[in-house]
Amino acid sequence: MRSSFKLTRIFDIDIRVHITFLLFLLFFFVTSGPNGVVLILGIFVCVTIHELCHSLAAMHFGIKVKKIMLLPIGGVASMSDEPGKPFQELVISLAGPMSNILILLIFYLPLRMLLGNDTLMYPLLAMTGKARFAGGFSVIAYIYWLNLVLAAFNMLPAFPMDGGRVLRALLSYRMSRRKATNIAVRLGHVFALFFAYIGIVHGNIFLLIIAVFVYTAASNEGLQVNVSETIRGYTIKDILPDDFISVSPETHLGQVLEFVLHSHQEDFPVMESGHLVGFLTKKDFIRGLHVKNSEAGVSEIMRTDIPAIRVNTPLHEVRKLMQLHGTGAMPVIAGDKVIGMITAGDIDRVYITANDLTEGI
Ligand SMILES: [Zn+2]
Repeated sequence: MRSSFKLTRIFDIDIRVHITFLLFLLFFFVTSGPNGVVLILGIFVCVTIHELCHSLAAMHFGIKVKKIMLLPIGGVASMSDEPGKPFQELVISLAGPMSNILILLIFYLPLRMLLGNDTLMYPLLAMTGKARFAGGFSVIAYIYWLNLVLAAFNMLPAFPMDGGRVLRALLSYRMSRRKATNIAVRLGHVFALFFAYIGIVHGNIFLLIIAVFVYTAASNEGLQVNVSETIRGYTIKDILPDDFISVSPETHLGQVLEFVLHSHQEDFPVMESGHLVGFLTKKDFIRGLHVKNSEAGVSEIMRTDIPAIRVNTPLHEVRKLMQLHGTGAMPVIAGDKVIGMITAGDIDRVYITANDLTEGI
């Protein structure tokens, strides 16, 4: 089953919604009725604008953005590369929260006129116990003030929040990126434990979920940077395996299975008269064997959206490209000739070996 579906496309970026979001909508419909649904949809519009602003800032610096995934807990923009300079990271990270602050500034007066002060201020006054009147449109006021929550939460100076990236960018002016990342990761862990503590004390399951999410995302961020920094300096040329098997669009899946069983290769460039016409990934091949029969041809399941990469591409860029295209392998070209194939496993081996070498094992 697909875990997400495409909602729309803005500025050449796919806006996708994760399937859990639908469950969330259903939950809020059952517990709070149509107002609950309006609230969640409103939050998602604000989150989408937030992520779009990160993306536009990234695109301004030449970083490609393929998609924005909307999850119940927020949004994630998939970018082709890390910002190269601290200043770029600073601008890209600030763009999201700033968009929410802009929404607050732009809509304050129009909403005040439209809803009246009591309704617009209701969400804030309700917390202090001073609210007098909710008004029928208080859900709009809640959506409005949630922009403040989004901006404030995201500016916490810890990974994986935007504030963690701002902190890393600022620290990067004075120390290495790896060291700056580690500080933001540790702060992420501290915040996660704090959320978990509050969540347990107040019996708030939502805060506990956020705590787990923040903790694992912070650790993951640390690992990603550690891997990128360790493999920096290596290119595909340094590790490209000597031999590889290619298949043709007419090759039967049964034959491909033979290749898989008799070699170490699990992904295959698809060639026709010496030209690359597609790529067969391990995942698509296994799915293909399940839904089609072994007589089906490779052309029926091969992917044509995985680009070939040049042999002098640095490994840390290859990793990013693999994540961006959702693949564990990519074809490698020199000139316009396919000369091999690189897998995530090949890159992991470099990381493990380089790490062992620095630790003197
Ligand atoms: Zn953000």
